[in-house]
Amino acid sequence: ERKRLKGLKGKVPTTRDGVAVELLSNIELPSDLDQVKANGATGIGLFRSEFLFLGRDEVPCEDEQFEAYRAVVEEMGALPTTIRTLDLGADKVPKWQKENLSINPALGLCGIRLCLAEPQMFRTQLRALLRASQYGNLQLLVPMLISITELSQMLMHLELAKQSLADEGVPFNKNIRVGAMVETPAAVVMISSFLKYVDFISIGTNDLIQYTLAIDRGDDAVAHLYDPVHPAVLHLIHQTIKAADRVGVPVSVCGEMAGDHHLTRLLLGLGLRKFSMHPAHLLDVKQKVLHTDLIEIQQHINRMLKAEDSDKMRDLLDQLNA
Ligand code: PEP
Ligand code: MG
Repeated sequence: ERKRLKGLKGKVPTTRDGVAVELLSNIELPSDLDQVKANGATGIGLFRSEFLFLGRDEVPCEDEQFEAYRAVVEEMGALPTTIRTLDLGADKVPKWQKENLSINPALGLCGIRLCLAEPQMFRTQLRALLRASQYGNLQLLVPMLISITELSQMLMHLELAKQSLADEGVPFNKNIRVGAMVETPAAVVMISSFLKYVDFISIGTNDLIQYTLAIDRGDDAVAHLYDPVHPAVLHLIHQTIKAADRVGVPVSVCGEMAGDHHLTRLLLGLGLRKFSMHPAHLLDVKQKVLHTDLIEIQQHINRMLKAEDSDKMRDLLDQLNA
């Protein structure tokens, strides 16, 4: 079976009825790139840059960050490399942040909030990213947004970082694309506004599930309630994809759902055409794409969108995959 999947590596992911799908890879460190190539991903949909900051005593300096980002961007060449700006806090706490833990870390100073609260650190990262943008096809992705205010503040910091590099005569891509992660219910409610200001969006289902269902993604006591096919979650994903399609803004899913081949058909049915996942899942998902006829499943998807609870949804999901 593994061997047969390996044979799919060079195959273009297209549904039976001829719809093209993009399969991208998530990475945590530049050393993950081997796996990306081995599984035939056509880009990086999520580079979790905070992993460069974890498990060490100090924040990496601009040059060290630049080297790490450049290594990835250069290796990917013309293929898109999406680097997420620092998403620390909550479940990703660096050594130097341990003392001021919030009572509810997932609701505390994390993601873009932490970056806006530490402008020096953020500006250093943005400068490193901009410098790396010169070496390939780099785009930025902003995590944990809840408001347009945060997005404008982020864009202001980006402008200032650009200005400082320009003043020093350091080259960078002036038109670097910026995307928003959709991982809070607030971002979905405000999606039309976000879509006006970004070049693309990516749905972070791991957190979107957590914040929609009020289930701590790391708490074993409620793990049985952490449910990707809860109708509320699927409706939010559907709403986001439809809103992006209406205005022609590219949309992907980069949470774990994108790498679960049991959910591939469902996500395709909800309109998703761009999946970013751990590279180990890529060929399984590709196989599912190749064996799916979108026209054939549409009625069934409509039925799923009417399901009122997860049990019903699971029954329908089993039928969809049968
Ligand atoms: C997500 O929340 O779905 C996501 C991709 O980001 P992370 O898992 O790193 O929080
Ligand atoms: Mg997240």
